[in-house]
Amino acid sequence: MDILLGSPRVEPFFSMIGRESVKSILTEALDSERKELLDGRSEHTSSESVLARALPLLERRGANSLLPVINATGVVVHTNLGRSCLAEEAAQAVLAAARCYSTLEFNLEEGKRGRRTDHVEWLLRRVTGAEAGLVVNNNAGAVLLSLAALCQGKEVIVSRGELVEIGGSFRIPEIMAFSGVRLVEVGATNRTHLRDYANAVTENTAALLKVHPSNFRMEGFVSSAPREELASLAKERGLHFIEDLGSGTLLDFSRCGLFGEPTVRDCLEQGVHLVTFSGDKMLGGPQIGAVAGKKQLVDALRSYPLHRALRVDKMTLAAFEATLRLYLRGEEKRIPTVSMLFAESDSLKLRAESLLEALRSSFPNGRFTLTEVQDAVGGGAFPAEQLSGWGVSVSLVEWGSAGRVQRLLRRAQPPVVAGACENETVLHVRTLLPGDEDRILEAFRSAEKMAFSGNLEESATKRERG
Ligand SMILES: *Cc1c(COP(=O)(O)O)cnc(C)c1O
Repeated sequence: MDILLGSPRVEPFFSMIGRESVKSILTEALDSERKELLDGRSEHTSSESVLARALPLLERRGANSLLPVINATGVVVHTNLGRSCLAEEAAQAVLAAARCYSTLEFNLEEGKRGRRTDHVEWLLRRVTGAEAGLVVNNNAGAVLLSLAALCQGKEVIVSRGELVEIGGSFRIPEIMAFSGVRLVEVGATNRTHLRDYANAVTENTAALLKVHPSNFRMEGFVSSAPREELASLAKERGLHFIEDLGSGTLLDFSRCGLFGEPTVRDCLEQGVHLVTFSGDKMLGGPQIGAVAGKKQLVDALRSYPLHRALRVDKMTLAAFEATLRLYLRGEEKRIPTVSMLFAESDSLKLRAESLLEALRSSFPNGRFTLTEVQDAVGGGAFPAEQLSGWGVSVSLVEWGSAGRVQRLLRRAQPPVVAGACENETVLHVRTLLPGDEDRILEAFRSAEKMAFSGNLEESATKRERG
């Protein structure tokens, strides 16, 4: 251990992660080295071979883990890549709120305590037309809070076609159980009628719940009860009518060829009492769970103890306020998610052409082709709709297979996550941010170095440190 700790190759890591962490990583490497010797899987050992084990790990632990990447997949609300990128206004607001004291829970006029969600509630009412609004940590939390606060110990009726799993273990039946609500399933997988709901109402029923099927679509012999009819049933029987809208758009996206997605305002106008939706899906803001609806119900959520456990952070509130203000001013195209969704095919083609030219002139040995591509909304909205877009398909035989090219690009500096289509690497331009073209060239240059340096792992981490 003394020899290892004294190695000049280990020394730089002391200032990065601290001596104790370095030591524990070296201990791990020593242990596995020792185990291999005892198991007879290796014959001898040396400080060199222990270092060879430990260095990649030290490199990995020494570098930041949550890193910016370039999304060239064409999936706009990419769940694994952080869903939405904030508008510049929202990012600035986050910085301001993060760096200094703020009016988070303080009313400047009265010099008294204020309410932290006041900053966005008026805006939420304006952009949705709701009587009242509330925000919590995320939409899963909003659904949980709504069910627990309004329906605990009672029955909630849901269509069998809407008992969905969203991913990340958010499943409607489980969320309902966790909220202390008894799930009453009605209808069939493909068809649920108003009478199915009506027949299931008992004196223990608290609400009708409608859930956006998000990431899947049923086609063929399907039907569901219209919102207006469910609203009249709820009114007649004195029930709440709650909708988990998932992505929750504030804009009509039919202009860009996406049909059939109601806005939050549409749902409320069609009689839903309480709508919950995400802030970082098609809305294009930070991760948040928004609730819009009747004042009496929102007030009940606000005073329910679970609300405190789902409280929103100040940076998130700042980002959400700035994002909603863009909607209020009609400047929603400044929100990257919105502008990517509305991007026109012609402008995407121009962008792809200029990326193509830049790549061709920098990498004459590669084969680059302009390609029509299918992009996607992602984040569970419009699963069946494809957005037609443009991209550059990449073939660099000298670097190896398409899989290797993609791996090199992922480990490049900056990392690029590209799309793949029939064994080709495709860079979709829809999801590129301004300036990403230059960063892609930079990434290709760094990937090229790795491609010929033999050891992918080691050269990747070396440059991360640089
Ligand atoms: C995405 C989604 C959720 C979860 O929202 P988060 O903001 O990720 O917590 C819940 N319900 C539906 C229908 C969704 O699409």
